[in-house]
Amino acid sequence: MSVPDRPSTDLDPPAVALAIAAHPDDVEFQCGATLAKWAAAGTVVHHLLLTDGSKGTWDPDADLEALVAVRQDEQRAAARALGATGEVVFLGAIDGELDSTLERRSEVARWIRVLQPTIVLGHDPWQRYRLHPDHRHAGWLTVDGVVAARDPHFFREHGIAHHRPDALLLFEADEPNHVEDVTGFADAKVAALLEHRSQFETTMAIGDAGDAGTAREVERFRARIEGELRDHGTLAGFAHGEAFRRIPTT
Ligand SMILES: [Zn+2]
Repeated sequence: MSVPDRPSTDLDPPAVALAIAAHPDDVEFQCGATLAKWAAAGTVVHHLLLTDGSKGTWDPDADLEALVAVRQDEQRAAARALGATGEVVFLGAIDGELDSTLERRSEVARWIRVLQPTIVLGHDPWQRYRLHPDHRHAGWLTVDGVVAARDPHFFREHGIAHHRPDALLLFEADEPNHVEDVTGFADAKVAALLEHRSQFETTMAIGDAGDAGTAREVERFRARIEGELRDHGTLAGFAHGEAFRRIPTT
């Protein structure tokens, strides 16, 4: 990734933040510490999850309906661990089959109008060489949803006022130009991620045996997350940071 010499840093904590992501756990991985920092400063933090997370297992015999319910509960617990007090909304697209259709764009724009976020966060659709299609489509739905929400003549059938967020922060950014100082919020991020227990094997390399081996794997995972926060923080001289592409919404 290429980074400008001096990225901008630390927006004022917004009144309302809305994080839009493809799957349960994406928000916590990509911007959990930033949301925890803002929640501690009084921001109302909302989550909008686009898919049902039904492919998030390596068990070929898993009960996928049960998995969806588990992942929704985990996502709500993770939001609480961040200190988020807002809505946790699930649009319910089938995991792996998210598409950036006009219908989905309308749904995303409607939630932006309903929740009226000051800042929207979401996947960077321009990130190169990204494998997972849901993350690409979630990025387009976020960017295009903001444009549709902000102007009055898009999706007039919503029957509610248009809403223009002040800022859009894209995570997993191909070319970050903004860093939030999240020093002191690594623990909240890790605690929220550890609420996603069904993902221990698939995304965190943690076994589920509850023994000393698991404890070691949890510590290895914590070190991995702290390493990522250090890498992002280095871009702006912070001990821990989360980096974004900041896009004007005007
Ligand atoms: Zn994901």
